[in-house]
Amino acid sequence: MTFDYDLFVIGGGSGGVRAARLAASEAGAKVGLAEEYRMGGTCVIRGCVPKKLMVFASGYRELMGQAADYGWDVKAGDFDWPKFRAHLHSELDRLEQIYRTNLEKAGVTIHDARAELEDPHTVKLSTGETFTARHILVAVGGHPDVPDRPNAELGITSNDVFLFDELPKSILIVGGGYIASEMACILHGLGVEVTQFYRGAQILRGFDDEARGHIASTMVEDGINLRLGTDVLEMKAEGDAIWVKASDGSERVYDKLLWATGRKPNTGNLGLDKAGVKLGRRGEIVVDQYSQTDVPSIYAVGDVTGRLQLTPVAIREGAAFVETVFKGNPTAFSHDLVPGAVFTQPEYGYVGMTEEEARDAEAIEVYCTSFRPMQTAYIERTERVMMKLIVSKETQKVLGCHIVADHAGEMIQMAAIAIRMGATKEQFDSTCAVHPTMAEELVTMKTPVRTA
Ligand code: NDP
Repeated sequence: MTFDYDLFVIGGGSGGVRAARLAASEAGAKVGLAEEYRMGGTCVIRGCVPKKLMVFASGYRELMGQAADYGWDVKAGDFDWPKFRAHLHSELDRLEQIYRTNLEKAGVTIHDARAELEDPHTVKLSTGETFTARHILVAVGGHPDVPDRPNAELGITSNDVFLFDELPKSILIVGGGYIASEMACILHGLGVEVTQFYRGAQILRGFDDEARGHIASTMVEDGINLRLGTDVLEMKAEGDAIWVKASDGSERVYDKLLWATGRKPNTGNLGLDKAGVKLGRRGEIVVDQYSQTDVPSIYAVGDVTGRLQLTPVAIREGAAFVETVFKGNPTAFSHDLVPGAVFTQPEYGYVGMTEEEARDAEAIEVYCTSFRPMQTAYIERTERVMMKLIVSKETQKVLGCHIVADHAGEMIQMAAIAIRMGATKEQFDSTCAVHPTMAEELVTMKTPVRTA
């Protein structure tokens, strides 16, 4: 049977674009890609990239205060959101164009349209065109999940933050995950009065408990009104603002309410049922280690599969798919020991097991330090840095590393290489310190603070 394409990719985000480019440029495949919105996906258009630029923007307020204490004659004015937003969007346009150009250079045919599956080898586009393909890769990502509650539509999601005409004076952020905690810090840094409700006992569930506590207490000290064990009970419009009654009985009006209550895979109305693709309980596409669905010609990578929802993971899954399907080299991306960072202020970098996970698995030693870093201690700031290594008692391998500090994301990338190579605590310690840095503490923690 002949097909229009060797590969048809649905979705122009991180995973889909990487797979399309590699299949076309390295394996000589005839590739089509359909994207219904903007090339680049969540990461580039309404996620990692604009978020990180907002992290930078929001950090300058504190840095200007620090500069003054260091002796600089700086006078902080107000933040000009419209100026920043215009620059942000021209940068996103530039990046989107790069994605597009790179696909074209690789020889991929771009279809600016929505695609839905008709059967295991056929996609139908919103333009009315139909194409057949030997293989189909579904890489359509996810979307913010808004709780089903009366008046919930009055709230916004992270997608809307990058499009604000002006910054709100006050905001209530609901949720305690990555997006809620990052947005709380960013908007607080930009001068918005931030309240964050989290229904559980501590934000960032699933991460190392000590790191979570450290981040939360620093956020509170910085002036974020973090309310744990609290949820929205009732909400209604009050003019352009939103009146909220909280589960603790308190009432208040906020300019905006941001739902940061998780994300769901974009598997609705995609024709997956027609093609016979199996979905999991949360609506995610079920795939095996090679990202293959139970329909042999259909694969899926990235957030739509409900595995780790991280850009570099989607990229690696996309690359492994091309190795497997187009290069005859079956490759399964390992989801173990994936490092990451939460861009709260302070930042949190992590790799490997949390202390809680490790002590359930085996006997461990915990090395941990908390100190005032030189740069800010000098100007009498009270904030502290936390560094932690979790070590197997038996093998002395480092099982996990957790850093809460400025630039923790940069540090953890390096630590992750060693930990992935199976480094032991002794090998960390035999590495000479870089002085004076914060990261030198990672190789100078001599005695465990506890064993478990
Ligand atoms: P998360 O799953 O991280 O957090 C969702 C939060 O919302 C949790 O605190 C959850 O509470 C809470 N929640 C869920 N449902 C409700 C509800 N009905 N009412 C009240 N609270 C609720 O999702 P995010 O949207 O923050 O992030 C999605 C994914 O995107 C992340 O898992 C991550 O993979 C990725 N991401 C990565 C970033 C990075 O790498 N820096 C940055 C941003 C996103 P509970 O804990 O009780 O379930």
